[in-house]
Amino acid sequence: MSGRFDRQSFLGADSEELLAGLRVAIVGYGGGGSHFGQQLAHIGVGEILVFDDDIVEETNLNRLVGGVSADVAAITPKVTVADRVISGVNPAARVRQFGCKWSEAAEELAGAHVVLGAVDSFAERLNLERFCRRFLLPYIDIGMDVIQRSEGYEIVGQVILSSPEHQCLRCMGLINDAVLEKEERARQYGDAGSKPQVIWPNGVLASTAVGLLIQLITPWQPLPAAAVHLEYNGNTSTLQPAPRLAYMLEHGHGCSHYPRDEVGDALFGAPLF
Ligand SMILES: [Zn+2]
Repeated sequence: MSGRFDRQSFLGADSEELLAGLRVAIVGYGGGGSHFGQQLAHIGVGEILVFDDDIVEETNLNRLVGGVSADVAAITPKVTVADRVISGVNPAARVRQFGCKWSEAAEELAGAHVVLGAVDSFAERLNLERFCRRFLLPYIDIGMDVIQRSEGYEIVGQVILSSPEHQCLRCMGLINDAVLEKEERARQYGDAGSKPQVIWPNGVLASTAVGLLIQLITPWQPLPAAAVHLEYNGNTSTLQPAPRLAYMLEHGHGCSHYPRDEVGDALFGAPLF
């Protein structure tokens, strides 16, 4: 092994080669996704596809890893920040920038080995998961929210591994029709934007997600299950397995939301949503 990865050789004798041969997509390069980029670069992932159609704004700089003040004036795309961070750490990594919506470069996304998602809405999560199911891609999702209660603010979040043919975001209860309708109503009335965000929960969630990715790829430690749902409480700084998925796993309840015949390239080119 070369010196760079000596300290992580415990991940497995072939881990350096495994990671160098890995093609990971990051969808959404904001407060969560930028942690992904930084960590994938350090750990030695060979090819990283970054999807984000946004530019760096002043309001991003409280949490966008690698974003700098000059990016605001320069109207720098977030995918450029990704390339700068990743290539700066690991020049051997191949960074592919997609400054568009992921659905506009879907063919490229389908070629990833694993998809990491840090997107803004439940509707977007659902679409992304549906796409990943169709192409048999493991999807790792993170998200956080700040909820105002009468007694103060509560930071909540999730890290989810959604594997083909296993429990999905709907199974886990993260997404249901009521959540989607509420989100859509908020969007229509114009109060969906500017959700509170802060750097450290994103860091916790993204780091945990990268840990799951490494468990998925390398032999150092098996995943607890093919489906994982960890709930984050930012007020107590804890991550706990979600009871609902634990119950499903324990009782052998599988996913009924994605029929097996809705898989594969045959549907490519059909309307996604
Ligand atoms: Zn399901």
